[in-house]
Amino acid sequence: MSRTDNQNLLHVLSEAAILTDARGFVRYVNPTYCRIFHAPAEEWQQRHAFFGEFETEQSDKSHFTSFVKSQRGDDAKVYLDWQASWMPDGGALYLGRDVTSNRKQDEALREMAATAEEASLSKMRFLATMSHEMRTPLNGILGMTGLLLDSDLDASQRTHAEAVHDSGTALLALINDILDYSKIEAGKLDLEETAFDPQSLVQSVCELLSPRAVHKDLEITSYVDPSVPARLLGDEARLRQILLNLAGNGVKFTETGGVSVTVSAEPTKVPGQVFAKFEVRDTGIGIPAEAQRQIFEEFAQADSSHARKFEGTGLGLSIAQHIVEAMGGEISVESVEGEGSCFSFRVPLNTMTSRHEDSTPREINQTVIALVASSVLHESLERQLTAANVRKVEITDNAETAMRFLKRNSGATFLCDLAFAAQFGTRLAPQAANAIVLLSPVARGRLEAFRRAGFHGYLIKPIRQSSLVERITNRSMPNRNVQRLDSLTNKPAPGPRKLRILLAEDNQINAVLATAIVKRAGHHIDVAGNGKEAVENIANAPYDVILMDMHMPEMDGLDATRKIRSMGGAASETPIIALTANAMRSDRENCMNAGMDDFITKPFEPGDLLTLIHRWADGREGAEAEPAVGLAQEVSS
Ligand code: ADP
Repeated sequence: MSRTDNQNLLHVLSEAAILTDARGFVRYVNPTYCRIFHAPAEEWQQRHAFFGEFETEQSDKSHFTSFVKSQRGDDAKVYLDWQASWMPDGGALYLGRDVTSNRKQDEALREMAATAEEASLSKMRFLATMSHEMRTPLNGILGMTGLLLDSDLDASQRTHAEAVHDSGTALLALINDILDYSKIEAGKLDLEETAFDPQSLVQSVCELLSPRAVHKDLEITSYVDPSVPARLLGDEARLRQILLNLAGNGVKFTETGGVSVTVSAEPTKVPGQVFAKFEVRDTGIGIPAEAQRQIFEEFAQADSSHARKFEGTGLGLSIAQHIVEAMGGEISVESVEGEGSCFSFRVPLNTMTSRHEDSTPREINQTVIALVASSVLHESLERQLTAANVRKVEITDNAETAMRFLKRNSGATFLCDLAFAAQFGTRLAPQAANAIVLLSPVARGRLEAFRRAGFHGYLIKPIRQSSLVERITNRSMPNRNVQRLDSLTNKPAPGPRKLRILLAEDNQINAVLATAIVKRAGHHIDVAGNGKEAVENIANAPYDVILMDMHMPEMDGLDATRKIRSMGGAASETPIIALTANAMRSDRENCMNAGMDDFITKPFEPGDLLTLIHRWADGREGAEAEPAVGLAQEVSS
């Protein structure tokens, strides 16, 4: 093709075209170029090729973008995307495509995204503020009804107060769910990575739910497979949240049987990483096949008629799914209507210890005979005892069979569930070398009767794997939920010393509430109505712990803390615990940065507040040795 043919083609092209010689001088520009650059072809001849202006320095000579003012005379610009091709004679052909409309679209999209981001952030800020505002009165409602329920009430007053308390608790769960959901929607789900013990994670979930399960006469059990490393790295609080949701649903939707929470591990392709697989299985009402697909969606409930019977928002599973996916994992459900459900999720987690470190415990050369009726407990004991490598395990739900086993194995350890122990304990326990009754936390009052029946010890359900092993091998000292009955005397535990507490709180109801909780535990409390008064109080008298509200008139909790910390002397080192209705992580950071030592979110359980106070009053070391597990501690200690 001759040059003229080429130029004919370029002549009709809708893209701007410049043809140059080897020195870069223009040999030809096409009509599109002339139109965009507002000058006839002759004007460009024998001049250096002109591309307009550049937004950035062109680093690539064969592909670059430039712009030129449009002919409209206003500030509008025409953007051109240039592509160069080199000629054999050293010249070049530049083709410029008009990309103005793409740029405009990109800009509009960027603007839209920024507006949406701003909108969702302000929605989140709004929800965070609202949830804070709602928590404060809820703290009053829950705390005061809690106090009321601890007082002498007749049956109908008790029912009414319980209804207020239950409704308040449901409202609190709803507020937490909505706040969480809005965080997820705004893309603000920050995941932490810290070391945690998977065994204590699943145990604490079961212990927290145990009172609810016991109330419905259900078993709740946990099992950690030996494949699971002793330490994992991940967001423990978020994993606990998912497990509490799934196991909480399990308890909610089950009438007979129970719930089991298990964790196992599989290798991934990445060294130092495993898939942690959590399973929450229940023997409840199950979920119809058609509903299984939808329940992970927001506000979905399997059967809207259930909603009236079972309270809930339908947000829990959706939140769980979002968190699992943010962790790079997946969640699913298998269920048969009328038989039960199994929710499982798998997340990749980095490990701190090698997989095999703890995986094959030495054989426990013992026979263990268990008499339990519940299939959930049966299965859990079987797995726990097998994982512990117990030489021989016999589990039955028949007292006569248990008796036969016991007679045949004189040195055996005998595990006997509460109901059987009450009925057949006197006959069975004396047959065993080591007879242990399995109790729910509320049945502790009957320990003396079991001791007289011939039992040697007890285990509190949900049974901790480590306690079970300890109890069978009798290796170590009794701990919190495994005890020898003969060591039980009526000697009262030494009471905690009387502490001096300073509370800075402007909300009168909350002040009355905290005062009642602290006084009931036998401590002295002074109340300061704002941060300034608190600073004055602490300057005048020593305190063991300061409880500090965040928002107060005149001087807020953060400023008061900074003032106290800068005062010098012993008073400036008094432990300060923030009492706040703000549930965001950044609030905790603000408190810590201001010099506070700990943080409790309103509404709080009285027991949790006291645990924190005692921990800080007894010094930091105690604090690290025994992390708070909230309710669980009350249940199993
Ligand atoms: P909520 O329980 O607050 O309604 P979820 O998102 O946790 O919200 O659960 C959504 C729905 O899934 C529940 O309302 C219930 O219909 C069904 N569901 C969840 N877990 C179970 C379970 N273990 N057994 C039976 N149905 C369940």
